[in-house]
Amino acid sequence: MKEIRMVDLQGQYDLIADTLERRMQQVLEQTAFINGPAVKDFQSNLEFYLKVKHVIPCANGTDALQIALMALGLKPGDEVITADFTFAATVEVIALLGLKPVLVDVDPQTFNIDVTAVEKKIGPKTRAIIPIHLFGQAADIEPLMALAQAHNLFVVEDNAQGIGARYTFASGEKQMTGTIGHIGTTSFFPSKNLGAYGDGGALFTNDDALAHQIRGIVNHGMYQRYHHDVVGVNSRLDTLQAAVLDTKLPYLDFYNERRKTAALLYDERLGISDRIVTPFRKGDCDSHVFHQYTLKIANCNRDALVDYLREQGIPSGVYYPIPLHRQKAYSSPDYQESDFSITNQLAEEVISLPMHTELTTQQIDYICEKLLHWVASN
Ligand SMILES: *Cc1c(COP(=O)(O)O)cnc(C)c1O
Repeated sequence: MKEIRMVDLQGQYDLIADTLERRMQQVLEQTAFINGPAVKDFQSNLEFYLKVKHVIPCANGTDALQIALMALGLKPGDEVITADFTFAATVEVIALLGLKPVLVDVDPQTFNIDVTAVEKKIGPKTRAIIPIHLFGQAADIEPLMALAQAHNLFVVEDNAQGIGARYTFASGEKQMTGTIGHIGTTSFFPSKNLGAYGDGGALFTNDDALAHQIRGIVNHGMYQRYHHDVVGVNSRLDTLQAAVLDTKLPYLDFYNERRKTAALLYDERLGISDRIVTPFRKGDCDSHVFHQYTLKIANCNRDALVDYLREQGIPSGVYYPIPLHRQKAYSSPDYQESDFSITNQLAEEVISLPMHTELTTQQIDYICEKLLHWVASN
């Protein structure tokens, strides 16, 4: 059996190596390393794929979030509500801009932001909400948009883990995650569902005025050469990465299907244990693209499990072991532990299994056999 990795990018590379090398070679020969033709190609191909009016590429997913908040014209002290259970980048950019992060608990089944908890935290200074489509599952965006509209708030979707997922509205209509809020952001970090061979990110919006604002901000606040109308940043997707991403984009649905197939196999094998909670799906099979395959295991010595799996040649990950409200950088006297009971519990119970496009049935069988054996005897 092939070595099991948490993320295995080799197979994806082998499949597209010829095209990829040709496209990268072309960039080298054109020497247009910044804003070369591949950037524009990728931008318009991604707009078509997402069915969104504007894609603005940038340097990474964290920049995308920061630029989104800058484009909304928020003022220091304005409050932005986001989930306690996510990667720190989401809350980091809020704090960096002098805005006030307001963390809220998540749903115990989907691990996504709890809309009722958001509603309770809306106050006179609240300006925006950042839901995260965590682990690749669409957050409950329809009620969030209704809430935002009622209170005149912006919604920025952090879609770094969910690219290619589709949210189903109550009407049955579907829409790509990241294209429903006022702005959506994503990351092309190599291990993300659409990964570059280095850093990359992008913003999405259907709003022409916001798109214009964002295009200036990514380029030093310039809307006309050497006229700096707003304070901006330097955040670009470089041409080589755009060539990689443009080559991989046609395979994104296929990559996500591979992840979903692996997830279904895991579900089937692990479902027989009553101690293991396999990932809940809020919607149909389009709603979750399994950036991570994350289990909850109650009353389990997780560190011992991680060690045991490692000894069996099975890597695993804990996303995320410490809730954001307990991080030194983001703690606040305003927070009460009782407001974060779900996140606190998840931080103790979750474990993510290897998830990527190259998993074989044999590998999944092996992982599940070892995991079930440990759970039965511990
Ligand atoms: C990866 C990730 C980011 C940041 O992306 P980078 O490209 O690494 O800056 C932001 N939010 C979430 C939820 C992520 O998973």
